[in-house]
Amino acid sequence: MTDPLTLEQLEAIERDHVLPTYARMPVAVTSGADVWLHTADGRRVLDLLCGLGVTSLGHAHPAVTMAIVEQAGRLLHTSNLMHLEGPVTLARRLSRSSLGGGVFFTNSGAEANEAAIKLARRHKRGGEVISLHRGFHGRTYGALSATPQEAKQEPFAPLVAGFRAVPATAEAVAGAVDDGTAAVLLETIQGESGVLPIGHDVLAAAREACDAHGALLIVDEIQTGVGRSGTLWSYEASGIVPDAITVAKALANGLPIGALITGPHLYDTFRPGDHGSTFAGGPVAAAAAHAVLDVVTGEGFLARVGEAGERFAAGLRALPGVADVRGRGLMLAVELDADAVARHGSTAELAVRLITDHDVWVNAPSPTALRLLPPLTIRDEQIDEGVARIGAGLAAR
Ligand SMILES: *Cc1c(COP(=O)(O)O)cnc(C)c1O
Repeated sequence: MTDPLTLEQLEAIERDHVLPTYARMPVAVTSGADVWLHTADGRRVLDLLCGLGVTSLGHAHPAVTMAIVEQAGRLLHTSNLMHLEGPVTLARRLSRSSLGGGVFFTNSGAEANEAAIKLARRHKRGGEVISLHRGFHGRTYGALSATPQEAKQEPFAPLVAGFRAVPATAEAVAGAVDDGTAAVLLETIQGESGVLPIGHDVLAAAREACDAHGALLIVDEIQTGVGRSGTLWSYEASGIVPDAITVAKALANGLPIGALITGPHLYDTFRPGDHGSTFAGGPVAAAAAHAVLDVVTGEGFLARVGEAGERFAAGLRALPGVADVRGRGLMLAVELDADAVARHGSTAELAVRLITDHDVWVNAPSPTALRLLPPLTIRDEQIDEGVARIGAGLAAR
């Protein structure tokens, strides 16, 4: 085998040939195993971010690899114009695990939200879609129009008409929903904005207002779902039942797949020809998703996610410079105190030093917070190792 390209070589090629939309870490990855990423310069990095909450069972999970290889050797694609057992039984499994209605498969989270937005408009023609300040729902035009962040929206105006954002308070949500509302689209824990839990009172107000005005409550479970927050779907811990949820990220441990899952009352909302996607719901991604769900719904697995989250949070909370740890399950954010922020510049700079100097990967969703989305399979000694490495990074200045 030839030597892998070095970080410097990759950076040089990218400067000329990759559109510069991403701020990449100065790390070239060649492979991964369990909680570890292996780099071109021979280091082992403890991956506490899982590619933004995607590789939740760790890298190269044997059951997922087997499922992919086995299916890839039999059939990659047929179009959605034929019956295929894997995707069809996956739809049944997702429906039975959540809202009990129908499933539409996609290739990504943003596309799952596009499907949800189209469903809401099909359900109430011309209706408005309401989302929450600091929400994140994706980068395609519909999803972006529901993502009220100036820096992400402003350069791309005009956005899709009929979207409105309100503060994440019960009062604001109740006041915004009326007979012209098609849907309220929200996360239970806002991931991209820094792991900000939405209050149960806000969720209850949204449910009540949607019921009163015939609007759909759509919960974006793209980051929170598939066990990340300690229950299979985060809404299970919120006291409300949505009309539909959207899922993606961790569903196939790294293969692209997303889904819109509806309640039974929305089964007939889409008609044949209303929506579609060439690659979506393909058999390889579906096989991987079945393997993921086998693990995540296994005996004791989700209870362990809760315990692991508590151990991680307790360890991080005890580190000097940490003001607060928030989140649920293994979806955590560490808020630094003012002194630590002053010493480190910003958490974005700290995250770079953590990966280059301490071989641990987390990210910075805000200038004062670090976000952790560790593998759900992480063991106690790996948690303690993660806390120690972050602690070393915090102590280094
Ligand atoms: C990541 C994310 C999305 C977008 O998913 P993509 O697969 O990147 O399109 C949407 N909503 C939430 C809550 C997310 O975390």
